[in-house]
Amino acid sequence: MLDGRTKVVIIGAGFSGIAAAKELRHTSVEVTVIDRQNHHCFQPLLYQVATAALSPADVAWPIRHVLRKQKNTTVLMAEVRAIDTAQRRVETDSLSVPYDFLVLATGAAHSYFGHDEWAEVAPGLKRIEDATLIRRRILIAFERAELAMDAAERQRLLTFVIVGGGATGVEMAGAISEVARQSLARDFRRIDPTTARIVLIEAGPRIMPAFPPNLSDYIRRTLIKKGVEVMSATRVLSCDEHGVDLEHGRLDADTIIWAAGVVASPAAHWLDVRHDRAGRTNVGADLSVPAHPNVFVIGDTATVVDQPGIPGIAAAAKQMGRYVGRLIAAHAAHRPLPPPFRYRHRGDLATIGRQAAVVKLGWFELRGFLGWLFWSVVHIYFLIEARDRFIVAFTWFWEYVTFQRGARLITQVPPTERS
Ligand SMILES: Cc1cc2nc3c(=O)[nH]c(=O)nc-3n(C[C@H](O)[C@H](O)[C@H](O)COP(=O)(O)OP(=O)(O)OC[C@H]3O[C@@H](n4cnc5c(N)ncnc54)[C@H](O)[C@@H]3O)c2cc1C
Repeated sequence: MLDGRTKVVIIGAGFSGIAAAKELRHTSVEVTVIDRQNHHCFQPLLYQVATAALSPADVAWPIRHVLRKQKNTTVLMAEVRAIDTAQRRVETDSLSVPYDFLVLATGAAHSYFGHDEWAEVAPGLKRIEDATLIRRRILIAFERAELAMDAAERQRLLTFVIVGGGATGVEMAGAISEVARQSLARDFRRIDPTTARIVLIEAGPRIMPAFPPNLSDYIRRTLIKKGVEVMSATRVLSCDEHGVDLEHGRLDADTIIWAAGVVASPAAHWLDVRHDRAGRTNVGADLSVPAHPNVFVIGDTATVVDQPGIPGIAAAAKQMGRYVGRLIAAHAAHRPLPPPFRYRHRGDLATIGRQAAVVKLGWFELRGFLGWLFWSVVHIYFLIEARDRFIVAFTWFWEYVTFQRGARLITQVPPTERS
């Protein structure tokens, strides 16, 4: 508190970091939000960018713009490299920032289970850059198939493998199938895009294990109706640029998408504190780190020791962010502190493409078109900016009635993807 104001540094402007910052907007504290990107990304709609339904700017907003009305908040675009808890400083690639309270909200990344070399051939979906890379690969695969002279090569180019049968894998498989069978169906002359093979591979016994078996079975049947091959209880042994090796053989494919695992950001490593097997920092009931009561870890990069099983979803991240914001505001104002954090699970949603989604809110279940409508309203409601709510709603409606995919441009093709 050098100049008398409490300094709060929030690292990460994802769902949890933004929620914490917003909770501090009417307080006397000085907030600094640090993110390595200049935008907040609405990850639940990234698959729509990856499958050319939406443009990147429809699902991401400059952090400065999101927080522009908060006069007590400074936004810095910098990459955090280390934390000096003794000196209470955050070390970034460009400057060192002092703090009284620190909030780590740095999210998670893909886990390739010790095979990071697969990342090059099997990108995951986490950031805007991932979505545009995947979009480019999908669209280029069709273009190259149109040029291919050899039938086997054409089939390989038209084979899309998605590894991981959780929400992202299911959404991607359903959306790629619609790109092939509807949006592109009449756009090519030498190939028939509807013959594309879309294969969803899951190591566990069933896809969408977070849902009860009847809903997970409904999702499987809906995907199969959309032309997706669902391979559960199938382990991927390796990936390369020509396909994947499975326990029971080889699958040649040009496009491989990784949706199989996540690992937390290195927050626990920066603090040199305990973490779980997925790298998530152990935090106590007030989301602070044991031994560092002024340091909080929230969202996908935290595990609350006395509440195991809090899912890595936006709702949980936002609840943690709001809680820590309230707690720090109370600390700074010398008010009584709120009771320990309690996660409230409101339900699970997943979409399988046009007209099909699954909603489970306690005993209440919806599926099919009604589920999809519910899913759409919830996602548009949660988009931050009113303008973007309108754009997303309009784009979806237009795509729905015309079967068009508006964001199908292939740009910035690196040399390796040209040949
Ligand atoms: C494809 C996909 C689909 C999803 N779909 C859904 C869904 O339908 N419903 C749902 O509820 N949840 C969904 N999720 C999960 C949800 O998006 C996450 O749980 C949520 O984003 C976690 O919020 P967070 O604040 O912990 O991290 P994030 O939102 O990931 O934000 C972390 C931030 O930290 C920044 N950062 C990281 N490291 C550094 C560093 N070293 N220096 C500076 N900044 C750094 C990043 O740039 C990022 O802005 C989905 C996730 C993905 C990837």
